Amino acid sequence: MNILVINYGSSSIKYQVIDTRSETTLKSGNIERVGLDIAPDAAMRQLLATLQDCAIGAIGHRVVHGGDHFRQAAPIDDTVIGVIRECCKLAPLHNPRNLDGILAARAAFPEVPQVAVFDTAFHATLPEHAHTYALPQTHCRTHSLRRFGFHGTSHQYVAQKAAETLRRPLSELRLISLHLGNGASACALEGGRSVETSMGMTPLEGLVMGTRSGDLDPGALLYLMRQENFSVEDVDTLLNKQSGLLGVSGLSPDVRELEKAASEGHPGASLALAVFVHRVRKYLGAYLAILNGADAIILTGGIGENSPSMRQRILQDLSFAGIALDTAKNEARPTALQSVLEISSPQSRVKLLTIKTNEELMIAQQTLAALNTVP
Ligand code: AMP
Repeated sequence: MNILVINYGSSSIKYQVIDTRSETTLKSGNIERVGLDIAPDAAMRQLLATLQDCAIGAIGHRVVHGGDHFRQAAPIDDTVIGVIRECCKLAPLHNPRNLDGILAARAAFPEVPQVAVFDTAFHATLPEHAHTYALPQTHCRTHSLRRFGFHGTSHQYVAQKAAETLRRPLSELRLISLHLGNGASACALEGGRSVETSMGMTPLEGLVMGTRSGDLDPGALLYLMRQENFSVEDVDTLLNKQSGLLGVSGLSPDVRELEKAASEGHPGASLALAVFVHRVRKYLGAYLAILNGADAIILTGGIGENSPSMRQRILQDLSFAGIALDTAKNEARPTALQSVLEISSPQSRVKLLTIKTNEELMIAQQTLAALNTVP
């Protein structure tokens, strides 16, 4: 079946038409400045015209937050729309756009079944001790305050790819997946299920990201609010848009630019990269403890897939855990057709893999699965 995958992000609609039988992309593109120069429903009509000859069988929408309502992808009806709307307060930057995309797509493609695929659903298996915040539980219950986790489709996709590559059943594997891109998260998987992940109730917790702080002493925020009279909006902007690699370097959220600047002696760029690497290693150590070791560590996302120097900094000096990087393999450039690269040395007990993530294919497959389960 041809599935149209729609990812309505901050100001653009990325789309792909995927033939799920051959797992190939038939068409892909990006409509820019949606919600700014072009309204979502006009963008969707434009998409409809572009895809006239594609025989779309179903549409899969990436939806960032499904709260604690969804353990898997859901065929979209009015109830599902209501829940996505309810979850807007949990992901105010993402869910409202995802919802606009769904409503516009339903209007433009009224005959085509549509499915919501949630970033959070894969982490519904987190054990209670991993998803509970140490806050008074009455507040947690009233406000659905808990760790949800994100990047679920990416972690799930690369885990499946790792199992294929290692020729072992996913159900037997302990995996650590590091999705390192502009947004970044780590995930510990036991038998293919997420048992711990670094993002929390929102995509702010955990690793250092392009412009997001990741973990922080909550006391530091209280201090800033008192000292600087920061409002809720100020803190929101600070943590989501001005922090992370950008905040520390004072230069850029982009690892490529920071690597160049650091090599030219920019102290902020060097510090930002060092903080990023340190945080990833902290999580790696923690997840090795949680899983009692690992069969493989997967690096993905723009940084994980493309930066040999960041990979080396993250994976060096871990011989205590049986982790040994092959520096020559790590430097090798994968061909366009190579989506998986093994970069561990033969004596490494833990396999090290870089895997090109493919969230769209995962969304297409889950869309198909969700529709097949509809009575
Ligand atoms: P993503 O959000 O997954 O697209 O990842 C974006 C991040 O990947 C940015 O920080 C980029 O600088 C980084 N990135 C992409 N290509 C490279 C590369 N060749 N070397 C280093 N970093 C890269």
